[in-house]
Amino acid sequence: MKRTVRYLLPLMLIAGIAVAGPSVTGDGDAIFQASTLAALSAGVLEGPMTFHELRERGDFGLGTLNGLDGEMIAVDGRFYQVNADGVASLIPDTQRTPFAVVKRFQADRTVTLSLAADMTQLTRLLDESLPSRNVLWAVRIEGRFRSILVRSVPRQTRPFPTLAQALLQQRTFTLSGVTGTLVGFRMPQYLQGVNVPGYHFHFLTADRQTGGHVLACDLEDGTATLDEARGLHMALPDDRDFDGATLSP
Ligand code: ZN
Repeated sequence: MKRTVRYLLPLMLIAGIAVAGPSVTGDGDAIFQASTLAALSAGVLEGPMTFHELRERGDFGLGTLNGLDGEMIAVDGRFYQVNADGVASLIPDTQRTPFAVVKRFQADRTVTLSLAADMTQLTRLLDESLPSRNVLWAVRIEGRFRSILVRSVPRQTRPFPTLAQALLQQRTFTLSGVTGTLVGFRMPQYLQGVNVPGYHFHFLTADRQTGGHVLACDLEDGTATLDEARGLHMALPDDRDFDGATLSP
């Protein structure tokens, strides 16, 4: 049986510009995303892309599942859902996503981190280590945390609320004295509406039992690996929900 392809791809948004000579880079080292933050924010909480299709486009990333059913974290090719009870489990290939950002992670630089008491300090340390904030970065941090505040969201049903309305039901968890992986991206401000400007992190504990979308963290020490991307492939859902949504940045 042949599946109908229900999304459009690739839509090339950004072409890289090399320092020496006119060449375009980034196509083979691009970030891939399903749908847009603007659509998720507007309440387009179901999409056609399966996790089988998503894993072909990256082994590292974050997002959510159809119905905004918890938080998604992809690390080393394994895709985890953290549900509203804070429980992590592997996502079946047949599940679908309304919004996800993934990359084939290839470390370009490594930064040793110590004592970042809050997100502001952590992101400042990361920013100081970046050669440019005008390109896209995938960021992986293996660390020990004195505490980390994460959230997840319960599954929503139709008619879907906006993301802001759904987040009124978010559940938060403070994890103390844990080791684990921060999975994130740093997007330039000019991608507002397409993705989350600045840093966006999800967390998964080292034992892969819990995690979520990161609201705050107190890092004891860790190692950040940074992967530069000069390309972004965006696949827009080919369905009525997306086509009919009122989207604004
Ligand atoms: Zn998130």
